[in-house]
Amino acid sequence: REDGEAVVAAVEAVAERIEAERDHLTDLDSAIGDADHGGNMARGWAKAADAARDLEDPNPETVAKTVGKTLMSEVGGASGPLFGGSLVFAGAELADGVTAETAVAFAETYLEKVEDRGDARIGDGTMVDALTPAVHTFKKSVEVDDLDPLEALAKAVDAAERGVAFTVPIRARKGRASYLGWRSVGHQDPGATSTLFLLEEVLEVAA
Ligand code: ADP
Ligand code: MG
Ligand code: MG
Repeated sequence: REDGEAVVAAVEAVAERIEAERDHLTDLDSAIGDADHGGNMARGWAKAADAARDLEDPNPETVAKTVGKTLMSEVGGASGPLFGGSLVFAGAELADGVTAETAVAFAETYLEKVEDRGDARIGDGTMVDALTPAVHTFKKSVEVDDLDPLEALAKAVDAAERGVAFTVPIRARKGRASYLGWRSVGHQDPGATSTLFLLEEVLEVAA
């Protein structure tokens, strides 16, 4: 119950942050896409926060699945099924609550699902570029360095930030930005950026 309420609080924090960054995300998407990422995400996360708040028994698994389903139906575009579908799938890893171990499993499953669905890998100039270093760093920090989950998450956020920066000088090979070919070079990926914002808010709430 306590875990579930913390997850709802994280979802609410994400919704607020995404709303605050709506124009920023739209600007990024207008440079290399169709200028809807801010609006898509703000609408989706606002509905997701409503749906999470309305849950009778907000355990982490049901919150993740509810948010995922809402994002799938509300966000649309390329990013809706990627954020939403992966969250629905990875949510099952939280059936026993949120611990360092289940959080690693959740993160790994989420990344795998994004890779599967979008067929993108690191270096393709997408959200995968923020997600991969974050997930790898989180796993290593927990399992190899034996850091506590909060410290591990802080390191993961730093890694995601570098991943976002990495999307700037590379050519996009997946998603709308790839249609620009070499003209995508020099632009920061919107989905990698929103992924970083999500992680920052989860850290903020967990801290
Ligand atoms: P759309 O491009 O359909 O308008 P959005 O603007 O909401 O969708 O989301 C764009 C973001 O989705 C991109 O910045 C990128 O991070 C991500 N994205 C697009 N295609 C893929 C893909 N095949 N794999 C992973 N991420 C992708
Ligand atoms: Mg778009
Ligand atoms: Mg679109």
